[in-house]
Amino acid sequence: MASTPNSTIDKSGDEIAESTESESALETARRQLYHAATHLNIDPNIVERLKYPKKVNEVTVPIKRDDGTVEVFTGYRAQHDSVRGPYKGGLRYHPEVTRDECVGLGMWMTWKCAVMDLPFGGAKGGIAVNPKELSSAEKERLTRRFAQELRTVIGPTEDIPAPDMGTDPQTMAWLMDAYSMQEGETTPGVVTGKPPVIGGSEGREEAPGRSVAIITQLVCEYYDRPLEETTVAIQGYGSVGSNAARLLNDWGATIVAISDVNGAMYNPEGIDTASVPSHDEEPEAVTKYADTVISNDELLTLDVDVLIPAALGNVITKENAESIAADLVVEGANGPTTSTADSILAERDIAVIPDILANAGGVTVSYFEWLQDINRRAWSLDRVNDELEAEMQAAWRAVKTEFEQRDVTWRDAAYIVALSRIAEAHEARGLWP
Ligand code: GLU
Repeated sequence: MASTPNSTIDKSGDEIAESTESESALETARRQLYHAATHLNIDPNIVERLKYPKKVNEVTVPIKRDDGTVEVFTGYRAQHDSVRGPYKGGLRYHPEVTRDECVGLGMWMTWKCAVMDLPFGGAKGGIAVNPKELSSAEKERLTRRFAQELRTVIGPTEDIPAPDMGTDPQTMAWLMDAYSMQEGETTPGVVTGKPPVIGGSEGREEAPGRSVAIITQLVCEYYDRPLEETTVAIQGYGSVGSNAARLLNDWGATIVAISDVNGAMYNPEGIDTASVPSHDEEPEAVTKYADTVISNDELLTLDVDVLIPAALGNVITKENAESIAADLVVEGANGPTTSTADSILAERDIAVIPDILANAGGVTVSYFEWLQDINRRAWSLDRVNDELEAEMQAAWRAVKTEFEQRDVTWRDAAYIVALSRIAEAHEARGLWP
């Protein structure tokens, strides 16, 4: 059964949910790892190692609620692999956060950083909590206490968190402040996705959506489809969906559908995306501005050129994969396609550009932010966007080369690029002792 987008749509300013049903993020991530490894002459011992996280930190986070009672939440930080550099990845606040989900998402961060050739490994963490049920003061207390519990395992050269579902630049500001107060020195490089006034990067919030738009443009070019003649449906109108929609709209594409938790706005003539408020501008308002409303499930099966799932994970499943009518799928969310659906789409010759490439603009600008923090020197928005464009082009070229030479899916091609780099690094460093 296809999952219905719910209130988790990317409020975070970053990317979004996964696993609402059947297949956990960890199962999907492991299946993808085995599948990609079959195409590579890679030491099976390295694949064996990569199936497991290096370390999973589990903590309890007690906070005093506004009514004076104490509530205890469970938090995690799964650190998957750091052979190429410090651990990197988001922190999410969501009721369904589990240990395994963090491990699976952390694995995806390892591949994502490697496919972008960033000097980082992969991690993910979060707290099993519904942030909508917390006041801002409660969220602040939760975040500061979480920072304290993780203090010995995070740091600018150890593990650098960032926003994810349910967290945002303000959350990162509290984390950075709590860590800095304990360390006795202002340490902006401990997290990315902060507000620019305390060392955050210009362009960071927009970056995942921007990379989705850049990759969509490149893949359309590859298949000889001018953007001016391309129709696009986008599920999710949070940071990823709205930024991708608006950029593609500016670059000439016709956006025929956008959606949020309440349903989708549909206009075959094209939507003026600038006039529809994003989740940040006015939460869950898409259908309010729509003349024609369709369901999120209908959006997924629209006969468009490009489908961009940019909300939840596991929305393209074995139940609806046969009905996907788009020619190209560009994954804006993390893990929107289950493994079975992925095979069905491959058999049907529908190109799926994977999340680890398409939405990697977020972590790429996180890397720029980290460099700016270390050097105590801010970059202009133009510089950030130019360098992001260059990094996306380079990653695209690397993935395209594998795609063409090996006759594999785009997902396998991206995994091959990532795994080769990780395996080489493991071989060079060796297993010690
Ligand atoms: N949460 C984002 C992701 O999953 C960004 C992580 C980061 O910037 O470290 O890609």
